[in-house]
Amino acid sequence: MLNIQNLSFRYSPGAPQVLQGASLSLERGRIGIVLGKNGSGKTTLFKNLLGIHRPQSGKVELGKTNLLKLSRKERARRIAYVPQDIHFGALTVFDSVLLGRVSYFGLRSGKEDYIAVEKILQDMGLEALALRNVEELSGGERQKIAIARAMAQEPQLMVFDEPTGNLDIANEQLILTEAKKLAREKNITILSSLHDLNQALHFGDRFFFLKNGVIKYAGDQSCVTPEVIRDVFDIDVRIAEIDGERIILGGTRK
Ligand code: ADP
Repeated sequence: MLNIQNLSFRYSPGAPQVLQGASLSLERGRIGIVLGKNGSGKTTLFKNLLGIHRPQSGKVELGKTNLLKLSRKERARRIAYVPQDIHFGALTVFDSVLLGRVSYFGLRSGKEDYIAVEKILQDMGLEALALRNVEELSGGERQKIAIARAMAQEPQLMVFDEPTGNLDIANEQLILTEAKKLAREKNITILSSLHDLNQALHFGDRFFFLKNGVIKYAGDQSCVTPEVIRDVFDIDVRIAEIDGERIILGGTRK
């Protein structure tokens, strides 16, 4: 269980309060989607739970572990983070993904690390790129590699900040499907932001709407209603059901 309680944060003493008592909980192996306008504090929330920023107050627990007290290495074993802006050094794709396993192998990688990386590259359709230099690839390809590296880490928790931002529709599908498979098969918890509400509905198990520094609405699909979307995003939508799946239509500004 990931448990975030009453997190408060601002960037500097005089700056506005970005988080003002944000709380959410997410069961192990579930996919939680954080939704909110640009600038509502999604990235800030992620960076607080990752220890990149220090909250003024609040608690972040993963199982019984207080995440805010972990060392960098201990955190790397438990959490993988895929930020919006991804930077690799001049490494091959294979080595970039292998780096995800560094907290397991210490100084020298072994056979099981290579096998794990090969399997992930295969699942993600990245084998053909294995020996290419990451710096020479497109933004979308780099994004896939960052996600592959997070998978190689086999963490308890994966945090994705807009993981499909640079991807075409086929790769969006591929990544979300692979991530969901991983969550289900390995009982990995995923917390992600996604700007596309339909993608969010399709991918997520739980939804957390961030507004004015707090999680104002939380729940399963049934909490994603036109009223909530109107309150959080200032748009009017309709929700239809096709083959048992909810689809959000429209999106006119109110
Ligand atoms: P989101 O991810 O929902 O788009 P962010 O967490 O990036 O939102 O930003 C939340 C607020 O914090 C915004 O008002 C943004 O301008 C501010 N902010 C983000 N990063 C910084 C920073 N490094 N220094 C000061 N303010 C920041």
